[in-house]
Order: sequence, then structure tokens, then C-alpha cells
Amino acid sequence: MAQKFRKIGVLTSGGDAPGMNAAVRAVTRAALARGVEVMGIIGGYRGLIHDELIPLTSGDVSNKIQLSGTFLYSDRCLEFKEEAGMQKAIATLKKHEIDGVIAIGGDGTFRGATDLSARGIPTIGIPGTIDNDITASDNTIGFNTAMQSVIENVDRLRDTCESHARCNVVEVMGRGAGDITINTAIATGAVDCVIPECPFDEDACVEKIIRLRRAGKRSFLIIVSEAFPELGEALVKRINNTTKELAEKEGNDRLWVESKFCRFAHLVRGGTPTLSDRLLATKMGVYAVDELLAGKSDLIVIEQNGELASMNIAYSQVLDRMYKGTLKEGMLDKFTAEQIADMEAFIKAKKETFAKTYAMFEEITG
Ligand code: ADP
Repeated sequence: MAQKFRKIGVLTSGGDAPGMNAAVRAVTRAALARGVEVMGIIGGYRGLIHDELIPLTSGDVSNKIQLSGTFLYSDRCLEFKEEAGMQKAIATLKKHEIDGVIAIGGDGTFRGATDLSARGIPTIGIPGTIDNDITASDNTIGFNTAMQSVIENVDRLRDTCESHARCNVVEVMGRGAGDITINTAIATGAVDCVIPECPFDEDACVEKIIRLRRAGKRSFLIIVSEAFPELGEALVKRINNTTKELAEKEGNDRLWVESKFCRFAHLVRGGTPTLSDRLLATKMGVYAVDELLAGKSDLIVIEQNGELASMNIAYSQVLDRMYKGTLKEGMLDKFTAEQIADMEAFIKAKKETFAKTYAMFEEITG
């Protein structure tokens, strides 16, 4: 173990996610077990700029594993993106003799981690976000709990939809990623879903609802990703109007599918972390400490096929952009042909898996 690590800092940044506390606990306990002191940085990178840190003992992280939110608090700190803010952060780290940082958050947090690494502070990122939008990792901390919260609440909506023969369109979080949407659509028996990764045919959706209503189906659920902020309410209006007109035309009031809209928004950002999020957070926390104390930096911890690994942050960010189709000119320049081929193969496989999942969903929702 590299001797230079006497004290490390840990922070949570960006959008909070259930399981972040479990990750902070794991980082703290693993570091203490290796003879390294730990400082908790309050409110993400803001805490570094404003010198708000607290020492973390084993007792301080006791009774936290089951709690959602983040007891270190989180903040979005624009000042940290500027060189002057960054220099204040470095000065705080030096003042407290902190030799390395573990930053738990999403892609913005990792950009900050790269900036610290580039200025001589070894930093490792841990993906903590409900959105599961870190392309390199199969899972992020909080994703499973958020999906669990979605299905519990959608099940409640189904109860009342079935009683009143209604449709409920539900908008769920996930930023630009449809992972929460597609998985919860499958798990709640939704009749359709709208995700950024696959085209949505609104006409076909309305026709499907009418066909199924004619066949006697009472309740309908549609899950929409927050990537389409206007779509959910518009779809509700359209289903209401189209089916009402049809009911009047055919003189059959059963054809009217009364529809309502519900936006879950931050409701699914809280709640007791699930077993799998607590396990992922614990494993990733310990792994991050191992990587940092082994002298590594500018990496994020990822999970692929159930195994933990680490990946260079710049590489993971290019992978993200490749997946989302947002690559800009010159971004691939610093990578070798072999690395680019590996990235393309990874993206292809990931997209194929996603497409298969979507095809399965479509097949069983006839
Ligand atoms: P997330 O980490 O969930 O993606 P944000 O994008 O809000 O959330 O980023 C969290 C924090 O990380 C920001 O408030 C800021 O302090 C820091 N950060 C984001 N982008 C950068 C950047 N380009 N350079 C340095 N720090 C950044």
C-alpha cells in the first residue's frame, strides 16, 4: 500500500441517489481498516470551496446504511467549474492534508474528479445516480431503488385504474436514459412506454388502447421518460379526446378511456435503498478505496456482467457520448484505433441488448 495515503476525502455530488450513504459508509470503513483517516466533505464540491469538512469515524457512519438521501448532503456547485473555484478546493485539500478523494455522483461529478486528478489530487469516482446513465456501468447506485419505488407507486395507480376503467400515463425520471422507463414498464405490465432509445408511434399507441378496450381491457398504464416533458400530458389529452369521440360516434360509452397524468418526479429519488443498491454501494465503496490506495486516479468504478472494474474517466465519457450520439469532432483523437474499435463493439452490444429488451416488451404487450 502506498504510504502517502494518510487521509482521504469522500463526497456526494449532483443528484442524490438511494445507497449513497451506504457507499460513504463503505469508503469510510474500508479506509479506516487500512489505517487511513477519512474526512467527509459537506455538500459535494461546494464543501471543498467553502472548507466544510468533518472527520468521519467508524461510529459516524453507523446506522446510515439503510438511510436514503445523503448525510454528507449534495449540491450543484458552479464555482467548482471555474479555475478560481478549483484552486480554492485544492487549497482546502492541502490545508487538511488530504491525499486523495472519492467522489460519488454522476457524469458532472466525474468531470470534477478529472479536474482534481489533473491538478495532482488522486480522485476516483463512484457512479451514484438513479438514472443509470453511466454507459460503461451496467448498474449505478440508486437505480434499483428508484425502479422499485416506481413499480410500487404504479401498482397503486393500477388498483384505481382497474376499478374505474381508466388509463394512467406516468412520467418517470431518468434524464436522457430510458433504463428506468423500460424496466418499470415491463415490471408493471404497462401497455406502452416512451423512451429516448427507441421510436414511439403515438398513433399505434392510441389504436392499441382502442383495440384492447374493444376486447374488454379495463385499465391501461403507459410509462413515459422525463426526456419527453410535454409528451405525457399531450398523450393523455389525445387518448381522452379520441376515445370520447369514438364512444359518442358508436353510442358506446365503454369505449371512452378516461385518462389521467401523473409525474412521479423526485418521489422516486428517496426511499429505503434496496438490497441490491446496498450491496452495489458497499462493493463499489471498498473497490474505490482499493484503487485509490493502489495509486490509481482519474477512474470510475464500474460494474459489467456482475464484476467490478475501473475505467478512465475520459474514456467513459467518450463511451457515453458514443452511446447517446453526441460525440463532437476531435473527441476521439486521443484514443487508439483499437480503443475506438473496443468502444464501438461495446456500444453495439449494449444497443442490441436494449433493443432486444424493447422487442420483448412490445411482443408481450400486443
Ligand atoms: P451529476 O454528477 O449527477 O451529473 P451535476 O452535473 O450537477 O450532477 O454535477 C455535479 C457537480 O460536479 C457540479 O455541481 C459541479 O460542482 C461539478 N462539475 C460538473 N461539471 C463539471 C466540470 N465540467 N468541471 C468541473 N466540475 C464539474
